[in-house]
Amino acid sequence: MSQWICPNCEYVYDETKGDPREGWPAGTRFADIDADWTCPDCGVREQVDFLPIEEFVHNDQEGPIIAAETRGSTATEGAEQ
Ligand SMILES: [Zn+2]
Repeated sequence: MSQWICPNCEYVYDETKGDPREGWPAGTRFADIDADWTCPDCGVREQVDFLPIEEFVHNDQEGPIIAAETRGSTATEGAEQ
């Protein structure tokens, strides 16, 4: 089971939890969601626009989804200046 993220608003679809509100029960694979399904949060991005969460890079400094190792490398860069 993996997680997919909307590159526009950062809504996360978790295959383990599904999104019953949208009609996807827990365990629904992202690949099984309709290609014309739109993001429930922003309504802008469609299923095909979502990214595997491990490929998504958050642009802000202290976003909650930045991996610990990413924050670590940023701190190292700051220390060198
Ligand atoms: Zn969205």
